[in-house]
Parts: sequence; structure tokens; C-alpha cells
Amino acid sequence: MKLLEERIQRDGVVKEGNVLKVDSFLNHQMDIAFLEEIGKEFKRRFEGEKITKILTIEASGIGIACITARYFQVPVLFAKKTQTKNIAGEVYTSKVESFTHGKVYDIIVSRQFLDSGDRVLIIDDFLANGKALMGLFDIVTQAGASLAGAGIVIEKGFQPGGQMIRDMGIRLESLAIIESMDEQTGCTFRK
Ligand code: 5GP
Repeated sequence: MKLLEERIQRDGVVKEGNVLKVDSFLNHQMDIAFLEEIGKEFKRRFEGEKITKILTIEASGIGIACITARYFQVPVLFAKKTQTKNIAGEVYTSKVESFTHGKVYDIIVSRQFLDSGDRVLIIDDFLANGKALMGLFDIVTQAGASLAGAGIVIEKGFQPGGQMIRDMGIRLESLAIIESMDEQTGCTFRK
């Protein structure tokens, strides 16, 4: 998505440790007109798919998922990150290793809001090693729901997550795929 690549070039900041900061428009301060373009693009890419629910993970996926959901006219469900023990029963739970913090945490989704009648679109801001997506996919599987695919705003193509997800046969639509990035020269994109 040309508009997104241009915005990353203009406002993205590459930090050490392969972290791209897009805080000024995507996941801290949010440019809503821009997020609407992202939502429209996901809708265009998944046109014709029957989707009943958008699933994301807190916190940075929520804003993007909400705007996207306006175009699909379905609810957004977000997995909560928790340290609560003793949560089995009422919730689906999975473990995710955080790329940005390096810790493993539990994610939970109430059983009340996801079941075998659902067809899910997963939305998230970044794809790096694929741990967040795998955790969400695990929850969709536990619910017996079906997965339409995953929509990612920024895939870091030099990390293994994208390849892994595609190899599993999951439909993955990434709006920008970064081929390489550098603190001095910025990002180059996959064509
Ligand atoms: P993964 O689980 O694929 O390794 O990482 C995806 C998650 O880590 C996303 O939910 C996102 O919040 C975070 N993340 C991964 N890479 C980056 C990055 O370069 N910049 C930012 N801001 N977040 C990232």
C-alpha cells in the first residue's frame, strides 16, 4: 500500500533491536483518517469473505481493528494480556512471547464471545516472529471457529513470522512488507 509505505518513510523511526516506531500515526497517537484508509484496504483485500468477527490483541491492535470493523460491520474482540492464574473454564487461553519486551504472557478471550459459528479475521499492527498471530490462531482453533485470514499493517519481512504463517496455509495480507531497515537509511519495502 503506497500511502502506508510513504508514511513509514516519512514518520517511522528505526530503533536498535529491529524495532520500528510508528507512534506518531499508528499505535500511540493515531491518525484516524489514515486508519480509515487502512480499514478500507483490508476490506478490499478480503472482499467477498464472510467474516463475523475481527480478533486482535491489546493494546496496539485495538484502534486499527475498530476502524477496520466499521467497513466489515462486525464486532471487534480483543485478546487480553493477563497474569491471572486460575482462569480456565470461562476463557480460551494461549501463551505469547512478546517481541518488544521478550517476556511470555498469557492471552485470554472469553468463551462467551467466540464459538464454532464464527469466521474470524485477525488484525494486528505488526508481524515479526509470528508469536502474537500464533496465539490468536490458537484461540480461534480452540473455539472451533474458522479463520478467514490475517490482516497485518506492517510485516517485517526479514523476520520469520510471515513465511511461517504462509507455510501453514493461512491467508496473510500485509499492507507493507519491510525488506530491510536501518537506523540511518530507514526502510526498504518488498515489491
Ligand atoms: P511477533 O509476535 O510477530 O513477533 O510480534 C508482533 C507483535 O509485537 C505486535 O503485536 C507488535 O505489537 C509488536 N511488534 C513487533 N515488532 C514491532 C516493531 O518493530 N515495532 C512495534 N512498534 N511493535 C512491534
